[in-house]
Amino acid sequence: MKYRITLDSGEAFEVAHDEDTLLRGALRAGVGLPHECSVGGCGACRFELVEGSIDTLWDEAPGLTERDRKRGKRLACQSKPAGDCTIRVRCDESYRPVVPASKRTATLKARRALTSDMSEFTFHVPEHAHFRAGQYALLYPRAAHGARAYSMSNVPNGEGLWQFIIRRVPGGAGSNALFDAIDVGEQIVLDGPYGHAHLREDSTRDIVCIAGGSGLAPMLSIARGALAQPGTRRLRFYYGARSQADLSALDAVHALAAEHPQMSVDVVLSAPTPTPPWQGEMGFVHTRVERDLAASLAAHEFYFAGPPPMIEAVQEMLMLRHRVPFEHIHFDRFV
Ligand SMILES: Cc1cc2nc3c(=O)[nH]c(=O)nc-3n(C[C@H](O)[C@H](O)[C@H](O)COP(=O)(O)OP(=O)(O)OC[C@H]3O[C@@H](n4cnc5c(N)ncnc54)[C@H](O)[C@@H]3O)c2cc1C
Repeated sequence: MKYRITLDSGEAFEVAHDEDTLLRGALRAGVGLPHECSVGGCGACRFELVEGSIDTLWDEAPGLTERDRKRGKRLACQSKPAGDCTIRVRCDESYRPVVPASKRTATLKARRALTSDMSEFTFHVPEHAHFRAGQYALLYPRAAHGARAYSMSNVPNGEGLWQFIIRRVPGGAGSNALFDAIDVGEQIVLDGPYGHAHLREDSTRDIVCIAGGSGLAPMLSIARGALAQPGTRRLRFYYGARSQADLSALDAVHALAAEHPQMSVDVVLSAPTPTPPWQGEMGFVHTRVERDLAASLAAHEFYFAGPPPMIEAVQEMLMLRHRVPFEHIHFDRFV
């Protein structure tokens, strides 16, 4: 059974009963409903219910403030229609999905430790892995409630491989379930692809990738995708990490740079340990980017991913201080 969702603009789409949230139904139908994280954290998919009935999956989702709740706002990613509905939300072309998302069963093929708390996960789906470099998928670990968003670190491929770099978050239900409660050979639901911070293949601008912590995965994907294209546009890869213990996660990035002379890699540590000695830069990664490129920032295509404070600092630097046009800025905030 399907429910019909009508936007107050007149556009309409259908959502499968008991299967999809309003957000995923809209995106599957090619409707540009605003969204960012897809898991209740950011609030970008807020809407108003004009008529009809909705079941809420996660009442306390942090994407809504108390004020939002009092004003009757809801999150499309946490709403399952319980009948036909009319909703008020401003859709935007830029949110229309570039690749239609679908749910599949994926098998964990390998889990490889990169650092003490980050591992590369390789899942296999028996069909072409169809996504754009820089996008993410939702994984449903059985031992946790709800879905978690993880960015692919590889590029689209015919072998059906979806790779992720995942950090184990202390006390985090989803990430710990992926490390501890799924063995190689076991299956999980993978829904995707999602996200609009994907590689713009038609741009000829030099590229800057800025990764913070586990934001490494989508930046590695963007770098792999960009360097596979013909041409020699420059790619500057900046990584902001805490300490030397995080550096082994960069092996794949250094290997890529060794093959492509137009790629450079710079690392900034925010809290280096006394040993082994750190000769490199200390501080925050956005400060380094600003210093290196101040005169030419507006001429680049920017991709960045990582924790919210890093995203805000980079946005402020690019948009407010250097007036980089918004269409050349692409990012994912790991809420
Ligand atoms: C677009 C995007 C891409 C990301 N890519 C990566 C990546 O490549 N690598 C990486 O390590 N991390 C990534 N993250 C972060 C990742 O999605 C998780 O937030 C992180 O792993 C912590 O999850 P956790 O379950 O361990 O922690 P928790 O604190 O248990 O949960 C974290 C988030 O999961 C959601 N959640 C929690 N409880 C529920 C519930 N009951 N129902 C529904 N949702 C719930 C909420 O959004 C919450 O903020 C990404 C996040 C986003 C938004």
